[in-house]
Amino acid sequence: MKVNAKRIENDIKAINNFNSTPGHGISRGTFTKEYMGAIDYIFNELRKTGADVKIMRGGNIRARLEGSITDAPSVMIGSHIDSVFQGGKFDGVVGTVTSLEVFRTIFEKKIPHRNPIDFVVFVEEDGSRFSSVLLGSRIWAGKVKEEDIPKILDKEGISYIEAMTSSGLIPEDNSILNGKEIKAMIEPHIEQSLVLESKGLSIGIVETIAGIKQLEVVIEGVSNHAGATPMNLRNDALCGVAEIILNTEKIASENGTSVATVGLVDVSPGKTNIIPGKVRFTLDIRDKDDTTLNEISERIIKSIAASCKNRKLSHAIKQVSYTKPVFLSKKVVELIENSARNQGIDTLRMVSGAVHDSSVMAELTDVGMIFVPSKEGRSHCPEEYTYLKDIEIAANILLESVIELSK
Ligand SMILES: [Zn+2]
Repeated sequence: MKVNAKRIENDIKAINNFNSTPGHGISRGTFTKEYMGAIDYIFNELRKTGADVKIMRGGNIRARLEGSITDAPSVMIGSHIDSVFQGGKFDGVVGTVTSLEVFRTIFEKKIPHRNPIDFVVFVEEDGSRFSSVLLGSRIWAGKVKEEDIPKILDKEGISYIEAMTSSGLIPEDNSILNGKEIKAMIEPHIEQSLVLESKGLSIGIVETIAGIKQLEVVIEGVSNHAGATPMNLRNDALCGVAEIILNTEKIASENGTSVATVGLVDVSPGKTNIIPGKVRFTLDIRDKDDTTLNEISERIIKSIAASCKNRKLSHAIKQVSYTKPVFLSKKVVELIENSARNQGIDTLRMVSGAVHDSSVMAELTDVGMIFVPSKEGRSHCPEEYTYLKDIEIAANILLESVIELSK
């Protein structure tokens, strides 16, 4: 039993026709006109299967093919279709279209299944409009407090509820997703890194989604005249930060698993002829192991203190967020591996450095993720690319895995 790759190719094209920045990458903010264009296309495809399609809590979409046993927990597949501003054609879309194709194939070929098959499209995975990643799955899973939902606003001050209502995605079922009603979930996704391509592999199977610690650091020195202040009498906050960034790089590089990034540096006063007196910067530290993540974070914090002491600078560190690593289901990982082996495909178990809706779902049920290579590791940019042949392989592995899970 195989999927139809031509149909997958058409789906990718059709969904990416809905884009608010043609010629400059793909932009598809949650609940926008473009988002709804893509959703309508998917609705149309689902209608052909006669599936029960419902708008769920938070505007998430769920289509269901009933199984032969009533009230059995479902086997869930799917991803997201929102895209960061000027992103690429494949992030989210690959998981959506491969899942859609598997769903259609099971319907058309009348593949027997005891469990219901659920195809889902999660809202706002990429923080594309409300700057809050995994928002749709978190709302559906009851991880966002009821009273906080109306407070979620986009940059224009339009609320999540208002945007959802005016898009027409008004929930028909507002209940919180219950893990007991889901047997397992599989999300295919682009890798967004270079590992698979560098090993010449088509398929990665995610075992762990890395934990993330995000810090905000403020370093203060003394602003002074760039010409009149001798080098030995300066307290240059930016020079301190330069040292801190290089130390961070060194600490994170040592164990081969951690990553640490300073992605934002805000220098004040930020003038050509004034010594920087204050610098604010962000730190994003990740590892697949929680103990290592905390150890590395502590060492980076200590090195910040040491650099500041040496350079007579003051510092303040605030933890902005902390997400523990998420372990995906061993059972589902092995099942996907078996499906790949049956099809003669080599796979690699891997860590996802990026978070996905699967992180939220893993708290509710057994979850697996299938990764396909990103050309040159590029993602969240117009250059993002994944070969159709790899997408087809992933779809066939997903199909076999879903058949096995729902038997
Ligand atoms: Zn994504």
